Amino acid sequence: MPPRPDFGPKPRLGYAESRIERAAELRTDQAALEKLAADPRAAAYVVGGETIVAKKAAPVGDPLFTLGEARALGSTTEMVFLGFMDGAPRFGIGIAPSAAEPLKARGDLLITDLRSIAVQGLVEADHLPPIAEAKAVLHWHARHRFCSTCGAATLPVCGGWKRDCPTCKAEHFPRTDPVVIMLAIDGDRCLLGRSPRFVPTMWSCLAGFIEPGESFEDAVHRETQEEAGITCGRVAYYRSQPWPFPTSLMIGCHAEALTTKITVDKTELEDARWFDKSEVASMLLRKHPQGLTMPPPVAIAHHIVRAWMDDEVNFG
Ligand SMILES: [Zn+2]
Repeated sequence: MPPRPDFGPKPRLGYAESRIERAAELRTDQAALEKLAADPRAAAYVVGGETIVAKKAAPVGDPLFTLGEARALGSTTEMVFLGFMDGAPRFGIGIAPSAAEPLKARGDLLITDLRSIAVQGLVEADHLPPIAEAKAVLHWHARHRFCSTCGAATLPVCGGWKRDCPTCKAEHFPRTDPVVIMLAIDGDRCLLGRSPRFVPTMWSCLAGFIEPGESFEDAVHRETQEEAGITCGRVAYYRSQPWPFPTSLMIGCHAEALTTKITVDKTELEDARWFDKSEVASMLLRKHPQGLTMPPPVAIAHHIVRAWMDDEVNFG
């Protein structure tokens, strides 16, 4: 094995390492929230379903609007108090996706989806975590207008962090859906798969939703077995990433493969196979002879693979 190539400094993971101070204690203080909304430093991220609204600016777009500017973009569906960034109040304001569409005609605005913003670096990286926070909570509001217990209309309270049912008194809180994303390792080889949804050259870690009653480790074992027929032993947690498409939390792991014969579940994956370190290195360096690629650095899969290449995996 030749010496490990230089992959450069570790890139920043997208949507993670939020600089927002959530100040959850203020959520039940309506007078304080009204005062914060009137603060001249207050600003909002504007989300219309999958669409993020930003101002065109140089060198990158500016996703912050004054609350007055935000409300003028379209009728507000919900407003969420996200917390403070550098002492300034930050809100998420939802507009209907149908209201975001005509904004595309405006020359001063950048109207696009969050994945494009993150992958292409269309705004400063520090904006990605609060945009992810706003998008996920606003998506939850859009899907929880009615009580799941009795069916009555619910009302947003607590700065957008809860919905109450006035009929049966049930309280509803924003949900996060945990997903395990893992790299199975067999010595100097790792297991990558291709979803039919991927761009044609891309290979990535396997992933799947954690089911009720499962630990991270159980879900890693089950998903790797189901999707690729590989039995895993020890599992090492690596790190996690908010994934607001729509409300997931990616739990990154490495897993020790105990078997090597792959059986691909064609309903989940187009293909899966073992990649050795030299092939993975050529993919990370974008020099693969067949042009095969990895997910971009904003995605945790990139970091999970990179950690293995950097010999950072320790099964204890
Ligand atoms: Zn109810």
